[in-house]
Amino acid sequence: MTTAIGCISGGLDSTLAVALIKRQGIEVIAFHVLHLWHPLPENPGAKPRAVATAESLGVRCVTLDAAQADLDMVQNPKHGLGKRMNPCIDCRIWSLVRAKELMLAEGADFVFTGEVVGQRPMSQRRPTMRLIEKESGLEDLLLRPLSAKSLTPTKAEREGLVDRERLMGISGRSRREQMKLASELGITDYPSPAGGCLVTDPAFAFRLKELLSHGPPSVADVELLKVGRHFRLADGTLLVMGRFEKDNVLLERFLQPGDVKLEAAEIPGPTTLLRGSASEANLATAASLTLRYIKSLPRTPWPVLVTPVGGQPRQVPAAPADDAEARRWIISPEEPK
Ligand code: SF4
Repeated sequence: MTTAIGCISGGLDSTLAVALIKRQGIEVIAFHVLHLWHPLPENPGAKPRAVATAESLGVRCVTLDAAQADLDMVQNPKHGLGKRMNPCIDCRIWSLVRAKELMLAEGADFVFTGEVVGQRPMSQRRPTMRLIEKESGLEDLLLRPLSAKSLTPTKAEREGLVDRERLMGISGRSRREQMKLASELGITDYPSPAGGCLVTDPAFAFRLKELLSHGPPSVADVELLKVGRHFRLADGTLLVMGRFEKDNVLLERFLQPGDVKLEAAEIPGPTTLLRGSASEANLATAASLTLRYIKSLPRTPWPVLVTPVGGQPRQVPAAPADDAEARRWIISPEEPK
């Protein structure tokens, strides 16, 4: 029986590609890479969307954690970065090298992806697609079912393992044809194309660049970038402040020995994590920034609870920071909100 490795992201295109190959009676093993650049899941215990999607199509899904590799690639991108901090070409090559390893381990015949020619500026132009094939060692073995008819036939098509006539010839950025195909294939539950990779997001890319300017970060440092508002004080101390209630809950989980937690006493407001020097000056700045994002303070100064991890809380009275103060420290390409 013909077997194929289908790279699946959980988005519409790769879901369609799996469905197109599977309906030809080919056994598909889905392969999902867990990138560091995915947003934090709403429910940390939940299955990744790609795994749930694969299972809903009756396909086994193999996952692989790419966090450290992602971090290495963004710091040393052999093929450069895209418009933001996205090392897409390196990232595609890395993922396809791993897909090829899975193909060999499973005795599969070829690899396929949901790529569409001309859809993404960095990695889905024809010459780049060829480069990626070559560098991943998948020349002639990488099928793009959604664009196959507008590409040179691969070995699997030439040898009749796949019926090329039942594949698509989609190209370009419009998603009209994919949506039509989805309705033909009975696929109704898929995410909108936005909201995928954080390194293409201007605000996240700005923060990541700032983080990298302070030396090589850990994977956990990057995970923290996904939460709330970030501020960098003059001596390099980092403040991370919840923007929403769910951020406050998450920040509790990120606290580690040496960190200090700040929150307004007695009234609801953001949780602030301080990582770096807990000097009195930094605590005073962190306290006044924490109060800045509370809409109606009963009066000022107002007490802020300062709790070192593993230590006892104490109260520091503070007045809310003004716009200029917030602008001075916030790590954001935009004005503070
Ligand atoms: S958008 Fe680029 S960097 Fe992000 S996961 Fe996709 S290929 Fe990798």
